[in-house]
Amino acid sequence: MQKKVFITQSILSDGIELLQTAGFEVVIEEQNRPLSYEELKEKSQKFDALITMLGDRIDEGFLRYNSHLKVISNYAVGFNNIDVQTASALNIEIGNTPDVLTEATAEIALGLMIAASRNFHSAASSAVNGQWKHWHPTEHLGHALGKKTLGIVGLGRIGLQLATLCRHAFNMKIIYFNRSLKNNSINATKVELPELLATSDFISLHVPLNRSTHHIIGKAEFASMKRNAVLVNTSRGEIINQTELINALKENLIFAAGLDVTDPEPLPIDNELFQLKNAYVLPHIGSATFEARRAMSILAAKNIIAGLEGKELVSWVNRR
Ligand code: NAP
Repeated sequence: MQKKVFITQSILSDGIELLQTAGFEVVIEEQNRPLSYEELKEKSQKFDALITMLGDRIDEGFLRYNSHLKVISNYAVGFNNIDVQTASALNIEIGNTPDVLTEATAEIALGLMIAASRNFHSAASSAVNGQWKHWHPTEHLGHALGKKTLGIVGLGRIGLQLATLCRHAFNMKIIYFNRSLKNNSINATKVELPELLATSDFISLHVPLNRSTHHIIGKAEFASMKRNAVLVNTSRGEIINQTELINALKENLIFAAGLDVTDPEPLPIDNELFQLKNAYVLPHIGSATFEARRAMSILAAKNIIAGLEGKELVSWVNRR
């Protein structure tokens, strides 16, 4: 019987065509919104495999109810939305889309570093709201990137890509915090987290979200940072204690923050972060390039094809 694949939101067509060519029936959610938890849980009953988005909560209850599923291919590298342990116990294979979004996400982190350190908000708004009367020698002053210290929390694929860009483009000194040493050709030095926070001019977060990384940046960590520090987060919002971030920005404990990810997402429009001139919030667009999303579509589909054909996933999170 023809196997059925459900894609929880519309993705670029490349992967869909691959799935169809491989002989699967593909159903794409037509509503232009994520399904609710209950809707997706019910709908998944009719399918053999899913391509899920990072906002789809695939928890123990979901998996036990849908234990017939063979493969869940997450359209993201992060898989904090999936209870992998339960999936493994139920022999449901989990895939993700690493590597293909590394450059796109590192570029967004770099963009946030520059926007936040060079006051893009206040400078751009002064241009449009009539405050820009003449060139001024001391207005809109920000911090240069050149030769500064960049601290990477999580020197994995994306962290290393950002570090390499910053090393080569801005001659920055790179320090990092990981659990293990990371081979690199950019002279990045491993330090403990307190040293990284206290000595970095720019701090960029790239650890996956899990119990050990939840809120690793909180009140004490902000207090230890340099007053000129710019904090960038393209990982997951919950890595930072956001209440403490707002306090730190209001009290100028740090210079600015650039966030591609927040807690929650979407961030309600009355959230204080939107009022702060030194906070830069993007709607989780790290991988949002045509190139990355096309490659993610293909990789997510290849994971499904391999799993449904009984082969090892191209990019697996848990092994069969
Ligand atoms: P990765 O290659 O697995 O890198 C993660 C790094 O974090 C590794 O170097 C790892 O090194 C380190 N790490 C893990 N747990 C740690 C801990 N408890 N303490 C300190 N370091 C730890 O992942 P990636 O591909 O770079 O992606 C990183 C994250 O970016 C993803 O998990 C995802 O949440 C996020 N992301 C966001 C977007 C976006 O659109 N904004 C796009 C893609 C990815 P050790 O194992 O040695 O500790």
